[in-house]
Amino acid sequence: MPISFTSHGAAGTVTGSKHLIEVQRDGRPYRVLLDCGMFQGEAVRDAKHDPNREFGFDPTEIDVLVMSHAHIDHSGLVPRLVAEGFSGIIWATPATRDLCAIMLADSAHIQEYDFAYDVKRARKRGRELEYDEPLYTKDAVPPAMELFQTAGYNEPTVIGPGITLTYTDTGHILGSAAVHLDIDDGERVLKFTFTGDVGRYVDRLLPEPAHFRQCDVLVCESTYGDRDHAPVKESEDELLRHVIETCVKGRGKLLIPAFSIGKTQEILYTLNSLSNEGRLPRVPVFVDSPLAISATEVSRTHSKLFRDDVRAELEQDPDLFAFPGVEFVRSADRSKQLNGVKEPAIIIAASGMMEAGRIRHHLRNELDDASNAVLIVGFCAPGTLGAQLMEGAAEVSIFGDIIPVRASILRMDFYSAHADRGELIRFLECQKPSKIRKTFLVHGVDHGFAGLRERLTEHGYTNIVVPKRGQRFEL
Ligand SMILES: [Zn+2]
Repeated sequence: MPISFTSHGAAGTVTGSKHLIEVQRDGRPYRVLLDCGMFQGEAVRDAKHDPNREFGFDPTEIDVLVMSHAHIDHSGLVPRLVAEGFSGIIWATPATRDLCAIMLADSAHIQEYDFAYDVKRARKRGRELEYDEPLYTKDAVPPAMELFQTAGYNEPTVIGPGITLTYTDTGHILGSAAVHLDIDDGERVLKFTFTGDVGRYVDRLLPEPAHFRQCDVLVCESTYGDRDHAPVKESEDELLRHVIETCVKGRGKLLIPAFSIGKTQEILYTLNSLSNEGRLPRVPVFVDSPLAISATEVSRTHSKLFRDDVRAELEQDPDLFAFPGVEFVRSADRSKQLNGVKEPAIIIAASGMMEAGRIRHHLRNELDDASNAVLIVGFCAPGTLGAQLMEGAAEVSIFGDIIPVRASILRMDFYSAHADRGELIRFLECQKPSKIRKTFLVHGVDHGFAGLRERLTEHGYTNIVVPKRGQRFEL
């Protein structure tokens, strides 16, 4: 059969995004891999063997890799793919390439650190470790980055014999794209679309997801296929209220655990707007995360990707992420100094779920003080430190210490980066369902698939499939 599709990740789960297209042309197969993401969380914890160590295909046989965006669950295994023999071109939008450069370096550091920790723990317990090296090391990143080539939105690019790639903006994170392939197998041209992750219609910085040309085969994400997000209150006023209550009236510290990419920039942009309006009290703001600082720099370089109204603001204020009183903290020494600061302050640090990163040090130092507050602005998976705080835990364990929780735990819904069900349907309004021969639902869990399938069926979609990992389909 001339063209086939196989999901090797994000099949029945939300992580590990990897989809393989094989085209038979002129008597030989040509293999296009879409994304090379890492499995994370439950997908790894509950598995017998680490699913990140088994691609399900031979990396040396892949001809070309096409990235949808830089999130680790879509990009995290690129260094390993290259270390195992992939040597083709890696296509990405310019912003995705720049974000991958910082995120993959950060991920390599985490792999090395986690592996060292596992070795230590195994030795303590007198056990053998199943693997004798990290998933990949820092040395694996530069050779991978050398293979990147970029294509901007709406720039058709030939990426293989008879195969043309066009990216369109999905407004999910900076540089995120839907992948459109026109595949000529010698007999016909198949129009294939992979949505990647789809963003929202109400992002503070990024434009709406863009419409795209009619496709024959659709691979659609389903993260929130079963729900509609609650409308988000005006975040500027809410954030200001928390700053005034905690830092001005309570003379305490406001800790904001935040994802380095996306959320941190969104918070900085909001604080910057308040500062420009003269409403932000004079409280020092520390961005205490090297990755978040690098991601903010990448965002600055790609400011042309922002929404029109945000870009227009750049004429009055050339830096939308910095304002009087903000300090970007890269060095670990400076980060430690912040623990000694007794005055009111806002500290923004990763990680968002509080499972790793510098935020844990700040929490260990500040949680027992009732004048302080922790402002949770994102999703916290069950079992994480963030979830424990949200559930009202009286004490928590951090680095082996039991810390009483006396600080206020505040919650604020910033925009989620994923479209909800209604927005996914709106995103697909550009399509005539009767022309789509097959729709694959990926990047979701059972109820997400069921919810989205139901809504798509109402809209006239037929032949909707939820692929299993490794299941091959002829297109
Ligand atoms: Zn994503």
